[in-house]
Amino acid sequence: MANNEDEKKEQIGITVKKDEDFSEWYTQLLQKAELIEYTEVSGCYVLRPRLYSIWEIAQNYFDNLIKKDGVTNAYFPLFIPESYLQREASHIKGFSPEVAWVTHAGQTKMAEKLAIRPTSETIMYPSYKKWIRSYKDLPLRINQWCNVVRWEFKNPVPLLRSREFLWQEGHTVFATKEGAWEEVLQILDFYADLFENLYAIPVLKGIKSEKEKFAGADATTSVETFLPSGKAIQGATSHLLGQNFAKAFDITYTDKDEKKKHAWQNSWGFSTRSLGMLIMFHSDDKGLVLPPRLASNKVVVVPIFFEKNKDVVLKKAKELVRQLEEFNPIFDNRDEYTPGWKYNEWELKGIPLRIEFGPRDLEKKQVMIVRRDNGKKEAVPFKDIKKKIPLLLEDMQKSLFNKAKKFLKDSTAETTSWKEIEKAIKDKKLVKTIWCEEAECEDLMKDRTDGAKILNMPFKQPDLKGEKCPQCGKPAKKQIYFAKSY
Ligand SMILES: [Zn+2]
Repeated sequence: MANNEDEKKEQIGITVKKDEDFSEWYTQLLQKAELIEYTEVSGCYVLRPRLYSIWEIAQNYFDNLIKKDGVTNAYFPLFIPESYLQREASHIKGFSPEVAWVTHAGQTKMAEKLAIRPTSETIMYPSYKKWIRSYKDLPLRINQWCNVVRWEFKNPVPLLRSREFLWQEGHTVFATKEGAWEEVLQILDFYADLFENLYAIPVLKGIKSEKEKFAGADATTSVETFLPSGKAIQGATSHLLGQNFAKAFDITYTDKDEKKKHAWQNSWGFSTRSLGMLIMFHSDDKGLVLPPRLASNKVVVVPIFFEKNKDVVLKKAKELVRQLEEFNPIFDNRDEYTPGWKYNEWELKGIPLRIEFGPRDLEKKQVMIVRRDNGKKEAVPFKDIKKKIPLLLEDMQKSLFNKAKKFLKDSTAETTSWKEIEKAIKDKKLVKTIWCEEAECEDLMKDRTDGAKILNMPFKQPDLKGEKCPQCGKPAKKQIYFAKSY
């Protein structure tokens, strides 16, 4: 029995360490914790129920934030006529290499090929043109939850770089630039709220450089973070589209002064990529670690029994499970596995709290509660369990966030010396530095660091008078975050 048990343990557990072979650790974790299933199509993955339930909670949270702010949901078609996609020149230029096309219906070649949406600006805006007549129709604020396809040829990484992913895309229209910009920042605050309060991931808010902004936008703002793999990642973006699309799609309104004017537009989104960030950030060598707010099952109850006391232990355990209904408990009363085996499995799958309960605990009228994040174990009397669980969950949520904040701080190198920048990038750090704001210099920075790029520029900029750009020596104009990224 014991040998058999060890063998099984080996099969279900992760066999490499996170800090030794990050990418193998990530791949094993996704499969062994039953989050992702690979398919025959490279870059396309099954999101299994354990993972999808996390996405549903995130969806719900963000959906509430935007609805309270006045946004409504709708759905637009998956297929975009080629002529629509081509209407805004810089937009199509930015996307064309990764667009997947439908060219045939059965054996018949189609008169106009259809793009599978890489993003929905160009399919939504012909409708917006029809719906907007007067300033009274504005603002128009619509969001959709959907899938998009970007046929990238780089190495796919599940969740982080996949060919099909799920996301929300908000598309809004305003009468003035000021109104649009105010929303850009409001939505960016919602994304920061989502990442920090739900995902327990600290983010850096800022504006993208001209080179890194969204194709077709006047300005792109983003929330970025830095992962234990030594690479930065963009969590979400909020774009000021300006009037580029309004002009291309002829979206105009009659203002109070009876004059016809072009509208101002925004778009903003976050995706299932955030789930990859979540998993990479908090999980450990034993498996998935979830901030409790993202866990649909917050506790697992594992009764410990032998044949002679099975009935009395299970009876009490069942009673406990009923009392803890609000935490959606898993009741693991399987006969064929030992308690130790069950502990490993639920640690792998990231259940925040484990409640162990055996004959001796029954005598003492208590249970043992074990935290997934730090392994701390404590005895809790029966009468206090319902009070104690929410406290432990909240504390775990907070301590994961604090740990992540410390990691981000410790991973950041602030310097204005080019030599130190190169070294920090080699050492897999996030660099906070300054820059001349010239595109040519940005290209050189990328070349000289083997691909590091400017993530964004903080909104609150320091006074850089007299400071020099570390790369080229010209006057520095902007403080930036700079790192290798996904
Ligand atoms: Zn420079």
